[in-house]
Amino acid sequence: MRDAVTLTGIVLSSAPSGEYDKRVVILTKERGKITAFARGARRPNSALLASTGSFAFGTFLLYEGRDAYSLVQANISNYFSELMSDFGGAYYGMYFCELADYYTRENNDELAIMKLLYQSLRALTKKSLDRELVRYIYELKIFTCAGEYPECFQCTQCGSSEKLELFSMFHGGMVCKECKMKARDGLALNPSTVYAMQYIVSTEVERLYTFTVSKEVLAELRMVMDRWRERYLDKTMKSLEILESVKDIC
Ligand SMILES: [Zn+2]
Repeated sequence: MRDAVTLTGIVLSSAPSGEYDKRVVILTKERGKITAFARGARRPNSALLASTGSFAFGTFLLYEGRDAYSLVQANISNYFSELMSDFGGAYYGMYFCELADYYTRENNDELAIMKLLYQSLRALTKKSLDRELVRYIYELKIFTCAGEYPECFQCTQCGSSEKLELFSMFHGGMVCKECKMKARDGLALNPSTVYAMQYIVSTEVERLYTFTVSKEVLAELRMVMDRWRERYLDKTMKSLEILESVKDIC
């Protein structure tokens, strides 16, 4: 065993291990995504029982082993318990965590995605925000953090920033009115949708969840994100399948 380390992070997932233990994946500020084993965390009287649940955010005291960390203590400042007790919120949150898991690695600087995940889980707890919109904002922003996002500010054909009217998967972003003929797969977008995408891509995480959109814009964001996800996410997200099957009732 090496020295103890204290890391700040969010629990992305936890699964049973052995008879009473848990295997926990934590996205940390200092060391990227790590895997830790929490001995006895499934015993009903364990202090680690609640602090190893999904979404738990705080500081974690760990010992670094050869293959994995051992979690010995946690100081949780936000359990996001309002999400856990809410059917829909929990599914959205689990999908957000699975997507963060997909895009992060160990010993990599993942602070941007950690901050994004934290703010997005907070956004899910706000009754004033449409969760479907929160989802598309989170998706587009995590694609941005990963460097795989659509060109929203200029025409992918001529470079103009004016009259951006069509979204083209083939060209990886917007196409202007003058170049329309070059985008056979073009999807006509409302100027407000284009503006929303530009805002999401360029705004800092702390100010992301500060706007709402019309039903029409939400539907267009859905079409764009569905296409983008299909192209760039080469893994079936289990939590997304569940979310898609229950989202009309949550
Ligand atoms: Zn153009």
